[in-house]
Amino acid sequence: MKIQDARDFVYGRSRGWCEVRIPGVCFGRAGNWHHRNTVGRVWAPSNGLHVCGSGSCGCHGWITEHPAMANEYGWALRSGQSSQLEPAVIASQGCWCYLTETGLYVPARDRAVPPMPNVDRPRRPQR
Ligand SMILES: [Zn+2]
Repeated sequence: MKIQDARDFVYGRSRGWCEVRIPGVCFGRAGNWHHRNTVGRVWAPSNGLHVCGSGSCGCHGWITEHPAMANEYGWALRSGQSSQLEPAVIASQGCWCYLTETGLYVPARDRAVPPMPNVDRPRRPQR
């Protein structure tokens, strides 16, 4: 699939909002594409998430920095995992979803959603 076609499907699917939404990390509006499985960096709607931030901040940064934890949510896949066969936790749907190659969510409601990542937030300065 052409890169622009893959982007069009995924950015239409997200409606411009971050699909991951990690509390304390997320900026809300999505700004870029994240490859779930980075092997070959395949441009396919099942392999993409529309996320906030960049490689170093927001949900995109968190996924990049925590690949093992992100794998528990399907946001990052291991090399042998298929993006078509592995669902991802999608915030707007509140459940695991398979991501189709036409930019649709197919809920996988039989699978329990894990609690969102517990992110260390900066502490307020002591008075
Ligand atoms: Zn986000």
